[in-house]
Amino acid sequence: MQNIPFYKAIGKEEEVFEHAYQNKLPLLLKGPTGTGKSRFVEYMAHKLKKPLITVACHEETSATDLLGRYIIQGAETVWKDGPLTRAVKEGAIIYMDEIAEARPDVIVAIHPLTDFRRVIYLDKLGIEVEANDDFMFVASFNPGYQKGFKELKPSTRQRFVSLTFDYPEPKLEAEIIVAESGVEKAVAERLVKIAVKIRNLTELGLAETVSTRLLVDAGKLIQSGLPKRLSVEVAVIEPLTDDPDALEAMKDMATLMI
Ligand code: ADP
Repeated sequence: MQNIPFYKAIGKEEEVFEHAYQNKLPLLLKGPTGTGKSRFVEYMAHKLKKPLITVACHEETSATDLLGRYIIQGAETVWKDGPLTRAVKEGAIIYMDEIAEARPDVIVAIHPLTDFRRVIYLDKLGIEVEANDDFMFVASFNPGYQKGFKELKPSTRQRFVSLTFDYPEPKLEAEIIVAESGVEKAVAERLVKIAVKIRNLTELGLAETVSTRLLVDAGKLIQSGLPKRLSVEVAVIEPLTDDPDALEAMKDMATLMI
């Protein structure tokens, strides 16, 4: 088995996950991109010694993609289970990343799976599949208070035990950057300071602000020898916006801080 992925707990999320698992309750991880949601699920799957199947949902993700479809193989038509059906049968943990992005029929398909029934209906085969005892449903959702983000209906949200993910406290965040990129502690702390400053600049009107992921990326560039200022510019600032004024303001600020 592979090494257990590095994950630094921010709160009581491990306990919540374990109890949700034991009680066969679906779990929703809420929070902005790059805050460790996927890493956490990978870590928990290792810890519980369960296979993990991840589906990155997007606008075109349909129930058929998840449940399965008939495919042509030579002269025959054969049924091929989708990732959700496989997870349900094999007793894996399914992680549906950015579930709100998927097409509405996906939400319809998962409803009977996320309540006491724990079943999926394979319409095309005319059968119902009951979830294996080890199966767990985990999804992520980016609430994005800005426009342009999709919402989840209350009738869907209330099926999940839910955990909020956010940017870790500075000390923890610096530890994550050190562990993930190998930079010195002082450099990681400096990166966190810049991030905190940018996160507080609400007047820039950024759709999403600096995530831990971006800081880890900057740390990796610095560690491999790219100048610090340039690393921060390309890994932390440029990915946030294309607005020239906002970019300039952040670059000026970072130059003073790095
Ligand atoms: P999300 O799924 O929320 O978009 P990820 O799990 O992909 O975010 O996290 C992005 C990166 O940030 C990870 O690859 C890892 O380097 C780092 N990271 C963020 N939070 C943590 C954490 N608590 N422990 C370890 N690494 C973390």
